[in-house]
Amino acid sequence: QNEQSEKNLDKIQVKDSQPAVFIPVDRLPEIQEARLKLPVLAEEQVIMEAVRENPCVIVCGETGSGKTTQVPQFLYEAGYASESGIIGITEPRRVAAVSMSQRVATEMNLSKRVVSYQIRFEGNVTDETKIKFMTDGVLLKEVQKDFLLQKYSVIIIDEAHERSVYTDILIGLLSRIVPLRNKKGMPMKLLIMSATLRVEDFTDNQKLFRTPPPVVKVEARQFPVSIHFNKRTPLDDYTGEAFHKTCKIHRMLPPGGILVFLTGQAEVHGLCRRLRKAFPFRRSSTTAGEDDDAENAEAMKKFKKSKNKKPVSLPQIDLDNYSALPVDEGDEDREAGIDDEEDGGSDLDIGDDPDNAEEKADPSNPLYVLPLYSLLAPEQQAKVFRAPPPGTRLCVVATNVAETSLTIPGIKYVVDCGRVKKRFYDRVTGVSSFKVTWTSQASANQRAGRAGRTEPGHCYRLYSSAVFGDFSLFSEAEITRRPVEDLVLQMKDLNIDKVVNFPFPTSPSMEALMAAEQLLISLGALKEPPHTGRVKDMEKARLSCPITPLGRAMASFPVAPRYAKMLALGKQQDCLPYVIALVAAMTVREIFEDLNRPAGSEDENSKLVQRRARIAQMKRLWAGHGASLLLGDLMVMLGAVGACEFSGCTPKFCEENGLRYKAMVEIRKLRGQLTNAVNTVCPDVRLFVDPKMAPPNENQIFCLRQIVLAGLGDHLARRVQVEDLLDPKWKNGYKTCLMDDPVFIHPSSALFKTLPDFVVYHEILETTKMYMKGVSAAEAEWLPQLLPQYCHFSSPLESPVPWFCSSTGVIKCHRSSTFFRVGWQLPAVEV
Ligand code: ADP
Ligand code: MG
Repeated sequence: QNEQSEKNLDKIQVKDSQPAVFIPVDRLPEIQEARLKLPVLAEEQVIMEAVRENPCVIVCGETGSGKTTQVPQFLYEAGYASESGIIGITEPRRVAAVSMSQRVATEMNLSKRVVSYQIRFEGNVTDETKIKFMTDGVLLKEVQKDFLLQKYSVIIIDEAHERSVYTDILIGLLSRIVPLRNKKGMPMKLLIMSATLRVEDFTDNQKLFRTPPPVVKVEARQFPVSIHFNKRTPLDDYTGEAFHKTCKIHRMLPPGGILVFLTGQAEVHGLCRRLRKAFPFRRSSTTAGEDDDAENAEAMKKFKKSKNKKPVSLPQIDLDNYSALPVDEGDEDREAGIDDEEDGGSDLDIGDDPDNAEEKADPSNPLYVLPLYSLLAPEQQAKVFRAPPPGTRLCVVATNVAETSLTIPGIKYVVDCGRVKKRFYDRVTGVSSFKVTWTSQASANQRAGRAGRTEPGHCYRLYSSAVFGDFSLFSEAEITRRPVEDLVLQMKDLNIDKVVNFPFPTSPSMEALMAAEQLLISLGALKEPPHTGRVKDMEKARLSCPITPLGRAMASFPVAPRYAKMLALGKQQDCLPYVIALVAAMTVREIFEDLNRPAGSEDENSKLVQRRARIAQMKRLWAGHGASLLLGDLMVMLGAVGACEFSGCTPKFCEENGLRYKAMVEIRKLRGQLTNAVNTVCPDVRLFVDPKMAPPNENQIFCLRQIVLAGLGDHLARRVQVEDLLDPKWKNGYKTCLMDDPVFIHPSSALFKTLPDFVVYHEILETTKMYMKGVSAAEAEWLPQLLPQYCHFSSPLESPVPWFCSSTGVIKCHRSSTFFRVGWQLPAVEV
């Protein structure tokens, strides 16, 4: 065998002058012993030969077989980290990047300065770094600065089976970068590592790799795992069910660690608390750091000071005044999609915590309970790898980070809730939100597999086998289940203008790409192609528009482009806290309870009538009158959010005022997240995360209406004019840019009776008629200024009607100064 590899080395030396050195690593004996047990060690030779002879290699193997911790060491020992470049490894999850870098440093007996990590806001990379773990988002950002990634001699894309959008894009990019580097005489290697799931997406893809890369399979020994299905499937209280199951296992079954899969951080903490109460042992503190509070107080002081400024005359938002990153700063401001289960750390949605009476505290039988999720502090994370204190049983309550990214030793029992928190996208609004759904069969089997690593194990599924049968086989690639305008924007931000030609492992549909490009052009994020006349040329040009500076600013916010535009414009007139609240509230589908449902009994009915009356009254109060009324339903949203937070966001307040408690809690979390995002993106803005806010003043309301119009421009509707009213179906109707039929203001809207000439809507709901919801009023004279892309400027002679909104989405208007308020600068757009 030695001879064989020597031969190989010879070949390589000639072929691409790869190093034939061996860098010794001084490992501790116990580490060396543990390593030798890992299945991947048996394949070292095969993997390294494949790497020497091919620019790209795929390594796939069961979770826990040692891919992440060992392959970088193989490469290091073979001299791949040298003067000419370092070894980079990407992870879709931050928790994996941090904990794996620490593990590899320990195993190799090297300092953190040599084996380092970089995630969004932190890292320990130095000049000495030879192995760098990072999130896929961080590497994507680096591609933007140096397309050839000259720092690296090898890139390992880990956890490729997760199919996170950023990982997919990186693989597409690297399929081009690697040949380019080799052509330029700067050899580079690419390794794609994945669990044993659907590798064909990478190998059988002509667009991606002309010659399919070799696949090295790592066979892992796996002990049998008995699967126990529940007879019935709890629909809501699966955390309660998980609690009972865990208690039972701990009381009745032989020693062995328990791993519980839940969907989010809040659930994890809730269950940990309950289990610790039931089997007390020792508290480990997992509360937020005090630093956060100090910073908050500081920011609050600053904010209060800045509040005393007096506004002058009616403001006008300036489209050129948007938040943007200063050039050359903010390296890792944006990051990967799979921050999944992370929800800001609020524990409020643990509605199922209280009834502990069922489990009497039992200190005689201690359970060592540890939480595990992405945002957990690294020291806390590391605890799961250590042996539990003597006399206790280990119980890790985790999100799906423990599914494939991290392998916890000593697990014999798995409790699987069968659910996962996933990002969902609304096709109409493009709004994304996190929802809990059933997981796939493949991932449920991965979870079960965690129980059989060291001895035969058991997996308790908190759902019936029939429900399992209905799970999809695999989780789909994230890229196919979402609209792609944000993705297209991100790629344009990377200067990939021809997104259609991009070698995606799984491509989004052409329609999705075209729609995305069109929307981005109309938002001003992409430069519109010049009008050349030939339709075909135009279409082609439309699919390769470059990004604008506004587009770059928008690309740095973690929301859909329409909302990103609002956030980008929001810093004017101190509007940001309100824009953030609005974006958050619009992201949550419905903040009001549905009170139109029929009541059961007469008694219930009279209560319902009372509640409806009270809620209608509250809505009127929140909508206000005069200037604020024109912000319409969005003002009601702001009022509801503000009032709810003022009362401490209690279930009681929500109940009394017809608000959905869950929605309000969600809004609070989103506001926190968006505030943090804005603070990172715009260094000149310093907002504090305070859910409470004073009502906006008149100027701010005026600005908010314009900001909403600028973001939701394609959701503009115009009240029908007299001449249309010949047809009775148009009575009180509106014309939109997107539909031929009339739409109407929803009866629950604050503007139902006002009927402004122009409105912007958040969404259209079809019931007996097409109804606009989330309506606010726009002013005609804002249109040429804020939405020139939708305007057609005609001469007064051309049409006796000054302007109208036609079903083709064009608003025709005179370019007459009498028509527009003095001071409005007319754009130089003419067709
Ligand atoms: P894979 O990437 O193939 O899923 P890993 O390389 O992550 O496998 O894990 C290999 C082994 O290393 C596992 O047995 C895991 O328990 C162990 N391991 C990983 N991180 C640590 C750590 N921080 N401390 C102790 N053991 C660890
Ligand atoms: Mg791994």
